Amino acid sequence: MSNRRKIFKALALGTISLPFAIRALTGDLEAQKGGGSPTLANSETYEWKMTTTWPPNFPVLDEACKLFAKLVEEMSAGRMKITVYGGGELAPPLKAFETVRAGGAEMGSGAGYYWAGVAPAAQFFASVPFGLNAAQHTAWIISGGGMQLWEELYAQFGLVPFLGGNTGVQMGGWFNKEINSIADIQGLKMRIPGLGGRVFEAAGGSQVLMPGSELYTNLERGVIDATEWLGPYHDTSMGFNEIARYYYTPGWHEPGTALEFFANKEKYDQLSPDLKAIMRAASYQTHLWCWMEFEKRNTDALVGLVEKGVELRQYPDDVIERFRVLTEEVLQDLVQEDPYSARVYESFKSFRDKAIPYAAITEKRFYNGLQLS
Ligand code: CA
Repeated sequence: MSNRRKIFKALALGTISLPFAIRALTGDLEAQKGGGSPTLANSETYEWKMTTTWPPNFPVLDEACKLFAKLVEEMSAGRMKITVYGGGELAPPLKAFETVRAGGAEMGSGAGYYWAGVAPAAQFFASVPFGLNAAQHTAWIISGGGMQLWEELYAQFGLVPFLGGNTGVQMGGWFNKEINSIADIQGLKMRIPGLGGRVFEAAGGSQVLMPGSELYTNLERGVIDATEWLGPYHDTSMGFNEIARYYYTPGWHEPGTALEFFANKEKYDQLSPDLKAIMRAASYQTHLWCWMEFEKRNTDALVGLVEKGVELRQYPDDVIERFRVLTEEVLQDLVQEDPYSARVYESFKSFRDKAIPYAAITEKRFYNGLQLS
């Protein structure tokens, strides 16, 4: 006997009520239309937490986390809600990776180089000195095999990675003395994290690490001689132009830093295929939004900084060349210390070895043609 006949028979016998019969018949028809019962399979709801590395309400970066959550909720018709917690609200900012691994939150946000202590190869998925710019890095991740290596690395930590934005090429930092030769780096105390900091040390400087909240005071008091941060937009909001005279370019140490989201793999694997696809789509949309916001806001902010009298300086060619040579040495040390970094570097380098010459005959020629000063 078909389901429908059974329902009519039960209704005639009075063993089920009319509303129940209608609901049962509607469900039966839905199942026939869809070749199954999709409404039942996908009706599961999820309430997830995201712990971030950024201060609460931090412009662009925290905004990107909230955009991701909003997109997922809208695309899933409310089946998946993600509440975003700023750094320190649920877990310390630099503990996001560990917190999500341990299941203290289902998702996290940050940048790969923050987890270099546990996953050295993660640095390639953020940025390495003299690496790839934002477009090249995104191309390597999406189309050049980077994503597969990234997923494989994070799976070792019980996580699934997603692209979450890019800062674009950063600025070289704020100084109160001019850098005219590599000798000027000697003994200079600079806040410059990650591999860039190791290169700076190899060049004779001193790498200092401290939270962003302490930078202004420490630069003002001379506890540090220089600092880098992000780009004109965020640097303006930190007020560095009030206490440092020279603003250097380029950000050789962070040519295009990718931001990331990551999910607890066990929790992610429980999601239906449509929710996984929604998360992927929301990640790409957020990545593009965040990257374009950096581009737009930095473009506007640099005009404002110049109007405020900031003196723009460029690292001399021989200083840049020295940093570049030292970067090769630092990267060689890294690949020798960590086998997975060696594997990722091989893919990264093979992409870069073609991307840079390509940019030299396309973008670089275009910029030369504009005769920018
Ligand atoms: Ca930076």
